[in-house]
Amino acid sequence: MSEKLTETDAQSAARNEQTDRRFASSTPAPAEAVKAGKRVKEPIFDVHDVSVHYGSHRAIRDVSMGIQQHEITALIGPSGCGKSTFIRCLNRMNDLVPRARVDGSIVYHGENLYGTNIDPVQVRKRIGMVLQKPNPFPKSIYENIAFGPRVIGMKGDMDEIVESALRRAALWDETKDRLKTNAFGMSGGQQQRLCIARALATQPDVLLMDEPCSALDPISTGRIEDLMMELKESYSIVIVTHNMQQAARVSDMTAFFTVELDEAAKVRTGAVVEYDVTDKIFTNPEDKRTEDYVTGKFG
Ligand code: ADP
Repeated sequence: MSEKLTETDAQSAARNEQTDRRFASSTPAPAEAVKAGKRVKEPIFDVHDVSVHYGSHRAIRDVSMGIQQHEITALIGPSGCGKSTFIRCLNRMNDLVPRARVDGSIVYHGENLYGTNIDPVQVRKRIGMVLQKPNPFPKSIYENIAFGPRVIGMKGDMDEIVESALRRAALWDETKDRLKTNAFGMSGGQQQRLCIARALATQPDVLLMDEPCSALDPISTGRIEDLMMELKESYSIVIVTHNMQQAARVSDMTAFFTVELDEAAKVRTGAVVEYDVTDKIFTNPEDKRTEDYVTGKFG
């Protein structure tokens, strides 16, 4: 198996230490970040002609895009256009969906994510996912964070791993005195940040977020958006959102998906209409369909 998907712990530890220091001092250290290579943008995913079938139904077709490191990439489009299907391709979550088949290629840090030598468990450790509805385990706050690192046999002091993840998710101050209490006692917004902390605990370098704020109130949503802006300094983020203001506020790049309808065959297939810098998508898109969608005329 590839080195990148197996032994990146040292790199991750270095990155996390860097992040921790930044939060501890609360002043960003751009010179250090540059030295650590964090600001140097490079493609993290190279997606080529990806199509996904569920049984005989083709849900998305021919998706191609490059996703940049240390950026927030938003996936927008009407319901059913395949945003969730696509984001699940990026950490092989569709492997777990019955009858799903992924064709095409996704290259992650220069290697084929779907190569026969790649371990999907390692993939999901490096490419974490946060779902729409906060889904903490019915356990203590501490155990929610410690679970993942234990499962993958992460070395190190567990108290430190837990603290570090909670700090990075901007949740430490609110939880440090109640680590042993049940996570279900937290507010919805706190639970979602706990899920983000849980994803960060296994030291990923990509965070996939599938409508992470759709169950949250505006204040909690704002906190998650602020957190995303902080996290992109150290991680790459892909977010599915039905909230166009959110995409415009937080993302660097936006992909607009739509549903193509084949009237004769009565099939609906998702496809990318336009993928570009977020400002351009929202102010001067190339495609009329994008314009209609972002101006609210359709969707
Ligand atoms: P979006 O996230 O844009 O709302 P989805 O990816 O959820 O779109 O769905 C795209 C298409 O794939 C839809 O037609 C949906 O019914 C179908 N689909 C999604 N998930 C599954 C699944 N697990 N099994 C079968 N079909 C699915």
